[in-house]
Amino acid sequence: MLISGAGVAGPTLAYWLARHGFAVTVVERGAGPRSSGNPVDVRGPAWSVANRMGIVPRLRAVATHATAMRLVDGNGRSLARIPMPATRGDEVELPRGDLAAVLLDAVRDDAELVWDDTITALAHDAGGVDVTFERAAPRRFDFVVGADGLHSTTRRLAFGPESEFVSHLGLYVATVPLGSDEGTDVLLHNTPGRLVSIHPARGAALAAFIFRSAPVPGFDHRNQTQHKQIVTMAYADAGWRVPELLDRLAAAEDLYFDAVSAVRLASWSAGRIALLGDAASCVSLFGDGSTLAMAGAETLAAALAADPATGFARYEAAHRRLVDPKRRRVGRAAGMLVPRTHLGLRVRDLAARGVAAFR
Ligand SMILES: Cc1cc2nc3c(=O)[nH]c(=O)nc-3n(C[C@H](O)[C@H](O)[C@H](O)COP(=O)(O)OP(=O)(O)OC[C@H]3O[C@@H](n4cnc5c(N)ncnc54)[C@H](O)[C@@H]3O)c2cc1C
Repeated sequence: MLISGAGVAGPTLAYWLARHGFAVTVVERGAGPRSSGNPVDVRGPAWSVANRMGIVPRLRAVATHATAMRLVDGNGRSLARIPMPATRGDEVELPRGDLAAVLLDAVRDDAELVWDDTITALAHDAGGVDVTFERAAPRRFDFVVGADGLHSTTRRLAFGPESEFVSHLGLYVATVPLGSDEGTDVLLHNTPGRLVSIHPARGAALAAFIFRSAPVPGFDHRNQTQHKQIVTMAYADAGWRVPELLDRLAAAEDLYFDAVSAVRLASWSAGRIALLGDAASCVSLFGDGSTLAMAGAETLAAALAADPATGFARYEAAHRRLVDPKRRRVGRAAGMLVPRTHLGLRVRDLAARGVAAFR
């Protein structure tokens, strides 16, 4: 069994497949595990997956410990402060890279890990999949699972070009590591159509710029110089700590920037090749993607263990029931986080004060 991608979904799937007795190889384009990254949540179905993997203490040890969300105006004055549910006992928020590292550690002894490589061609027949790699020698596997994220190579090779499955949701997101603590409150500053946030994490706080924009002509998700220009132009006249954060962005070497996107496919498998996590069903940054990635991985492993011949179909039928409701909430979540107008902002701030009063 070959898994492409060692983010959240890939190592979780590798762990459960190994537990079910499969021989597993994971190929990852990165040169090694990364720490930090955007904060993600492990909760609901993923919390019980983590519990059964025995990794909850390790997840808690690297949790961000953000305790509340605070809306601030252009002068930094507090407009509303909402305690965050992540302070409950059955969920945790942590940097995505740290989650991936903990998941990888759980499977390190039971799977073959191949770093700094990528699949370049896939050819499947009734008995298996012939896989060509950029660096390693070609190999044949029983099954291949693409857990290689929003811009999945597996999906492109086995299902078709990205443009057929990935849709821009009218927003872009940039994140910049600040390398500081920044307290315990997530700070959010909005102007119509724009949000800047500072998300605390033990010594690894992250600034995020999320803004509404039609697709930028010629957008290239790998061109950092272009990304810095786009963000700087979008926030040119913004107040609060934005000028300081734009300076950090200009100097950053590890900027993340991408269109906020959804992935939709009519089917998540083609013969002996399947997709998992963001590659199959990215619900954007508003939709519990890491939780869905972990839950889907366990479902897929169990379905393959029960019957390899029908495993992909049963995984898809079961996991779509979790994914679809999250998808429907994305528009509302985006409207709350990045209101388009002054009126929308005032309504959102009022609603936030109401929520704060009841927590
Ligand atoms: C800014 C931002 C904020 C977010 N906030 C949240 C949040 O608050 N809560 C939440 O639950 N989710 C959040 N998400 C979503 C969450 O990060 C994803 O849904 C989750 O990481 C999906 O896991 P995955 O394993 O499918 O993909 P990824 O985590 O993207 O992992 C894919 C892996 O595949 C590797 N890869 C890519 N191409 C190849 C290739 N060709 N060959 C081999 N390997 C490859 C990548 O290097 C990566 O390691 C956020 C996302 C972003 C961008």
